[in-house]
Amino acid sequence: TTFIDLNLCPELNATLEALGYSEPTPVQAQAIPLVLAGHDVIAEAQTGTGKTASFALPMIERLSRQPANPEYREIRGLVLVPTRELAIQVGDNTLEYAQLLGMRVISIFGGVRFDNQIRKMKRGADILVATPGRLLDMLQQKKLSLDHLEILVFDEADRMLDLGFINEIKALLSYMPRQKQTLLFSATLDDSVEALADALLNNPQRVRV
Ligand code: AMP
Repeated sequence: TTFIDLNLCPELNATLEALGYSEPTPVQAQAIPLVLAGHDVIAEAQTGTGKTASFALPMIERLSRQPANPEYREIRGLVLVPTRELAIQVGDNTLEYAQLLGMRVISIFGGVRFDNQIRKMKRGADILVATPGRLLDMLQQKKLSLDHLEILVFDEADRMLDLGFINEIKALLSYMPRQKQTLLFSATLDDSVEALADALLNNPQRVRV
């Protein structure tokens, strides 16, 4: 498979070329067509396999096909991550991929003051990358809305459960529309991850590398 076979838009292909990505990694070759087709996906993939691009690229592609209101951007893509470090890294990667399409990507995470993150949120974003606790705080304080969410991604779901985020995850779901596309990425698929996937994913397609 080449990136051309994956039918991404010219802006994404140009970005990948500029980044020197010559061909998709195995998880990208498997996951990208499934996500573009609108499926829920459960993927077993470790860090370093190119997993971030395997959800970020097709999420950006799908969102770009329905342009956002430039006046006020509603969050349409959400990536939940277990840690601040991952929020920064996934946010940076996603912004790199989405920049040429003019999308706004914001990361929010705990351990830092609220006000800067709230100021960033005021201008709106197309894609939000967040840790569960801080995101829940912001929703409870009505600092942001997930009413227009279309795509939800869990990155490193096993670590999120290990860190005890299950209650936050359940609470977060109550702020999201029922109908959305859900993707779950995890380094390991143990019983607790499978149970989460059972509860959240609708007829999921499996990816394993
Ligand atoms: P990840 O597994 O998402 O943490 O990605 C690991 C590293 O691989 C990151 O630095 C990416 O920028 C890079 N990467 C992802 N996909 C590709 C690709 N298709 N070709 C070359 N590098 C890539």
